[in-house]
Amino acid sequence: MAVQTCPACHSRGLHPYPVSRRTGRRNFRCTSCGLVGWGQRDELAPVETVGLDTISVEQREAWFQLKRDGVTAAAWAETLDELSSRLGLETGAGQPKIYDIGAGDGAFLDFARSRGYDVGGNELLEAAIEIARSKFDIDLDLGDLSALDLPAANDAVTLWCVLAHVPSPDELLDECFSLLKPGGVLFLQTPYRCTIDAMALGALRASRGRVSRWVDRRIAQHHWLLHTRRSMTVALERAGFVDVQVTPQARYSLQAAPYLASLGLKGRGGEVVSKGVDRLLDKGLAPRIVLDVYARRPLAATPGQALTA
Ligand SMILES: [Zn+2]
Repeated sequence: MAVQTCPACHSRGLHPYPVSRRTGRRNFRCTSCGLVGWGQRDELAPVETVGLDTISVEQREAWFQLKRDGVTAAAWAETLDELSSRLGLETGAGQPKIYDIGAGDGAFLDFARSRGYDVGGNELLEAAIEIARSKFDIDLDLGDLSALDLPAANDAVTLWCVLAHVPSPDELLDECFSLLKPGGVLFLQTPYRCTIDAMALGALRASRGRVSRWVDRRIAQHHWLLHTRRSMTVALERAGFVDVQVTPQARYSLQAAPYLASLGLKGRGGEVVSKGVDRLLDKGLAPRIVLDVYARRPLAATPGQALTA
């Protein structure tokens, strides 16, 4: 296995699953913090920026259209309320600064701006930069945070399903810390190792890699980690964060039909099932597949100071 230490808690106790017969990928589970992930992630070349010749504005716009608008807006409102409360913001107390990492088309930042935030963000896709500018008049930074060298000037930093996509989650959490003013608050959403994942991983093991469709969809090349509450807490505390709160949520950012199609439920059967799943989602009855995470940069500390042992 290529990944030798847990990307969250740094334990070397990684337990391998059988290789998926469909994809040839091998996953691992950390016996210490429970995180599961793809064992060969570090063999992928890092993505720098993605030009318009690779992903066009039209292609990216079609992808953004697949998002469940109602659910997203509800989650944004809830998150901004929580951030404002944690930051102790009162109306008229000046304009708080928020930075959204991997900001997509800028729709979340547009929403945050309507709630009184001064907004900024970055993207690796030139197409997303173009869309954010033309749709919302928001100028995102093009490029990875490590290349941008931004100041610690933000009251809030947000990441919507970004952490599980990057090759070095540790570095990204350090960069989040550096973007925040002392006392500033981080919010991130990331995939959660839920009950269905645990069952599907059990089936993968029992079938020696033959039953893999669910796991193949949930743990893939570009979203390679499923966190637990413990793994997320350990990773944040090591980066120097305090007041860590980790909550599993049933939230689906894509409409159910394309999501289920990607799991192999296509055609008439898939349509009926996906309508049923959409109804369950609307009622809040679906499995909790993501974690909502809040954490604070302490008023006086530096990264690594909290847990140097
Ligand atoms: Zn671990």
